[in-house]
Amino acid sequence: MKKEANGRYEKILELATRKSIFYPSAEVYPNSPSGFWDFGPVGQAIRRKIVGFWRHELVYREDMMEIHGAQILPASVFEGSGHLKSFADPIVQCTKCKKYERADRLISEKINENVPESLAIEKLDEMIKKHKVRCPKCEGELGKVSKFNMMVETIIGRGETKTFLRPEACQSIFLNFPRMVKTMRLKLPCGIAQEGGAFRNEISPRQSITRAIEFSQMEAEVFFDPEKINEIEGFDEVKNYKIRILRLGKDKLEEISADKLVKEGIVPGKLIAYYLARTQQVWNRMGIPLEKLRFREVGKDERAFYSLATFDFEVETSLGWLELIANNYRTDYDLKKHGEHSGADMSYVDEDGKKIIPHIWEISAGVDRTLFAILDCCLKEGKEGLYFSLKPIIAPYHCAVFPLVKKDGMPEFAKKVEKILKDGWFDMIYDESGSIGRRYARADEIGVPFCLTIDGDSLKNEDVTIRERDSGKQVRVKVSELRHVLRDLVTHDMDFGKISKKE
Ligand SMILES: [Zn+2]
Repeated sequence: MKKEANGRYEKILELATRKSIFYPSAEVYPNSPSGFWDFGPVGQAIRRKIVGFWRHELVYREDMMEIHGAQILPASVFEGSGHLKSFADPIVQCTKCKKYERADRLISEKINENVPESLAIEKLDEMIKKHKVRCPKCEGELGKVSKFNMMVETIIGRGETKTFLRPEACQSIFLNFPRMVKTMRLKLPCGIAQEGGAFRNEISPRQSITRAIEFSQMEAEVFFDPEKINEIEGFDEVKNYKIRILRLGKDKLEEISADKLVKEGIVPGKLIAYYLARTQQVWNRMGIPLEKLRFREVGKDERAFYSLATFDFEVETSLGWLELIANNYRTDYDLKKHGEHSGADMSYVDEDGKKIIPHIWEISAGVDRTLFAILDCCLKEGKEGLYFSLKPIIAPYHCAVFPLVKKDGMPEFAKKVEKILKDGWFDMIYDESGSIGRRYARADEIGVPFCLTIDGDSLKNEDVTIRERDSGKQVRVKVSELRHVLRDLVTHDMDFGKISKKE
C-alpha cells in the first residue's frame, strides 16, 4: 500500500479527529498502546447506520438468522479451528532499533507489489535480502523472519481455563450451527450472521482504524448442501448483474454477469455468484462508487488452505486497495473440525433423510474498514472547506434543524418541527448558534444531507426550507408533508430535483 501524494489520508484523519468521528483510545494517558480506537457521537452514529443497512439489506432480505456470541472463548475452540497452530504473521525485528514489523508488509512497500503473508519464511528472508529491505524507522538491518501468533490471550478467574479473545466473529457462528438446526428449524441454504468485536495481535498497528487490534466485523456464513450449490432462490434477479472482478493473473478488471461467472466456471456455483452480486449491490448503495470497487480473485498460495475459492472485496482508497470483505468458500472444514475436536454432532439431515456436513460460503466484512472506505470515497472539497458527501441512509443524522434567528417565535417553531421528526424516527441535530452559513458548513462537514431552516415566512405558511448538502438547492415544504418527503429522500434515495418539481 502506498500513501497518496496529496495527503488525502491525512485530511480524513484531521477531519475525523476534529469532529470526533474516531480518535485514539485512552488518549489522555501517554502510555496507551496504539491499535485501539474510540468512536465519538458522529462516528458511532455512522457505524450504527452501516451495521443497520447491512442488517436490513443482507440479513433480513436473505432471511438469515442473527446471533450475538461471546467474545472470549476457550482455547479448545481455537485448537479445533487451527488458530493456535497456524494463525500467525511473519514478523521481523530491526537489529539496530529493535522494533518489530510485519515482514510481508515491509517488502510490499519496498517493491510496491502485494506480498502474500502466507509465503514461506525462507522465501521472505530471501526477498528482504534481494530487495535490500531495511527498517523503515532507522534504516537498520533486519534480522531473520519469524512467525508470531496473533491470538490475544485473556485471563479469566485464576486462569485455570486457557481463554482467548476471538480473532474472527465467525467461530461463534460455527459453534451455534447445531443449536440453530435443533431449535430454530434451520433449513439449508441458510445464513447465520453476526456483528461484533474481534481481536488480532498486530505487531505494528497503523493506518488508523483499518488495521487495529480491536475491530468490529459484520459476518454472514451461508450454510448449504454442496450438491445443491446451483439451487438458489432469487438468482434470476441478479443473473444479468455485472460483477466487477479482477481475475487471477490478469491486470485488467472485467465486468462479468453473475450468469457468466457460473457458466464459465469462474465461481463454483450459482449460490456464490448470487452472493457476490448481492455484496457488491449492498456496499455500492452504502456509498462506494462502482468504479472504486472490485472483487480480487485470490490464488491458492495466498488464500487460507481450507478455502476452495476466495474473492476479496476491495475498495480503492487513499491507502491503496483496501480489503473490506473476505469472501471465502470454507467448504465443510469448520464444522468438521469442531465436530472432531468437541465430539458434538455438527451434521444436518435434509427432508429426504440425507445426512451431510454443510458447506459454507463466508461474507466477512469489517465495520471499521467500511467506515473508513466510505469516508475516503465521500471526502469532497466545498466552498467552505472539506466535507463528507455521505449517502442519506449512511449519514450520522438525516437532517439538521435551524431557526434562522433566535427570536420572533422561530426557535419555538423549529422545536416543534424537531419533535414531529423525532416522533417519526428521524435522527437529527438542532443548532441555533452562529450565522446560518456557519451552521450549514458545520452540518456539511459531518455529512448531514439536509438542512431544514425555519424563517419568518415559515410561521405564516406552516412550512420549512430544505437545503440539500451537495447541490445547495433549496425547496420549501409544508410541515405536514415533511415526514413523507424526508422518507423519500432518505430511505428511497430520491433525487432532490424531483421534490422541487412537485412544488
Ligand atoms: Zn530500526
